[in-house]
Amino acid sequence: MTVNTIGVDSSVAETALSELSASFKGELVRPGDPAYDEHRKVWNGSIDRFPALIARCGGVADVIAAVRFAAGAGLRVAVRGGGHSYPGLSVCDGGIVIDLGSMKGIRVDPEARTARVQAGALWGELDRETQAFGLATTGGIVTHTGVAGLTLGGGLGWLQRKHGLTIDQLLSVDLVTAGGELVKASHTENVDLFWGLRGGGGNFGIVTEFEFRLHPVGPTVLAGPIFWPIEQAPDLLRFYRDWSAEAPDELMTLVVQRKALPLPSIPRELHGKQLVSVSCCHAGPIEEGERVVRPLRAFGSPVLDLCEPKPYVAHQAMFDPAFPHGWRYYFRACDVAGLSDAVIDVMVEHGRRIVSPISSVAFFQMGGAVARVGESETAFNGRDAAFTVNINGNSETAEGFDAEREWARTFSFALAPHHTSVYVNFLMDEGEERIRQAYGADKYERLKALKRTYDPTNFFRLNQNIPPD
Ligand SMILES: Cc1cc2nc3c(=O)[nH]c(=O)nc-3n(C[C@H](O)[C@H](O)[C@H](O)COP(=O)(O)OP(=O)(O)OC[C@H]3O[C@@H](n4cnc5c(N)ncnc54)[C@H](O)[C@@H]3O)c2cc1C
Repeated sequence: MTVNTIGVDSSVAETALSELSASFKGELVRPGDPAYDEHRKVWNGSIDRFPALIARCGGVADVIAAVRFAAGAGLRVAVRGGGHSYPGLSVCDGGIVIDLGSMKGIRVDPEARTARVQAGALWGELDRETQAFGLATTGGIVTHTGVAGLTLGGGLGWLQRKHGLTIDQLLSVDLVTAGGELVKASHTENVDLFWGLRGGGGNFGIVTEFEFRLHPVGPTVLAGPIFWPIEQAPDLLRFYRDWSAEAPDELMTLVVQRKALPLPSIPRELHGKQLVSVSCCHAGPIEEGERVVRPLRAFGSPVLDLCEPKPYVAHQAMFDPAFPHGWRYYFRACDVAGLSDAVIDVMVEHGRRIVSPISSVAFFQMGGAVARVGESETAFNGRDAAFTVNINGNSETAEGFDAEREWARTFSFALAPHHTSVYVNFLMDEGEERIRQAYGADKYERLKALKRTYDPTNFFRLNQNIPPD
């Protein structure tokens, strides 16, 4: 190995690198290696960075070795779980990527209804293992998103209104600190750290394993989207506002405005047409779900109704075709306290201006069990939000991407008077003030104090960073 490839030039670092290389169980990938391009790529195709070394860890010992090596060599560190950070925080130019993607061990205990999950697992992989026992935990709505990054920020998903956020299911974690020590955190061990990890992202160390509580779910659920022409959006959203306010916790909905993708499930004549949809997932008895969804189906004149009994894992994969790896993604998000007429007007006006066939605006219905956990019980902020809005300005290639970004920014600016909070996992690279807003002043100060304890040199800084001072 030539040390020059990673820019490490002291003889001490040279020795450290050969020691790492000799003992590493996983794979060390450097510029020029055949697998380098494959492993430096992240989900968002607009991010193109060139790390000096990618340490594809095979286990906890590799993570500890990689952390100690990086600390000794003074390297910039990016930590990668599923690689789905919108602003590309899991890859860097120069420095080292500590890549957990090969650590995919999952062990479900069906009796105890718990799962132990290594940090490289993706949501589709975890759902597959838990659903084999008719169990699940709240998880992301796209199967190839990483369990690790999503959980550490909070974790929104179809089961959140019935069971709470992903962090509300977290029982314990194993974490490698900036000093290369393995610590555990749970409701009884390192309680302050456990508080901060539930929303504080990757600021305090590298989580190598999560333990989650599971719940009986499905395996068949009543789920899927119902579509209306975009012209019906103003009335539909007003109807939806009242109907969703009365919905039981079993029901979670997500409203999307976009041009219909050319998918086999969508009739050809609708492809490319601007539609508004309400996607449902009822995590309870099918007949009960049918009763709850009936008024929605009856509203206006839907052009397509795909809300039907289906396997929970099939529903979890529903949005996969809309977010493949490699497209260019730009994102703005905020929480709103409700769908006032003014918010609906902004949604409709800017939703109608979508040009790209792959841009969209969506909002997640919050409430239910999410809001029943106290605001100060975890580092996650904004439990009282009614909806979390996502504005996705996307293009397949560089062509047209600037215009999509501009559309998303303008849309977000128009919604700004209604912003209440923002979910930290839905931030782009937006600066410290916005991160402070994401946590609120009190929690931000508490997180800073925790950072001073666990990472006083800000070794883990490629994240939605909470600097120690
Ligand atoms: C297509 C798509 C769908 C999404 N859907 C949802 C959704 O339904 N619900 C939701 O809540 N969010 C969703 N998100 C947002 C998602 O939560 C974040 O993008 C999240 O960071 C992804 O986690 P990851 O492990 O894939 O990301 P990565 O890019 O690997 O990591 C993201 C951040 O977490 C840090 N990190 C990763 N692994 C670890 C670890 N083991 N220890 C410490 N720090 C770590 C990284 O350093 C980085 O700062 C979605 C994102 C995308 C792109």
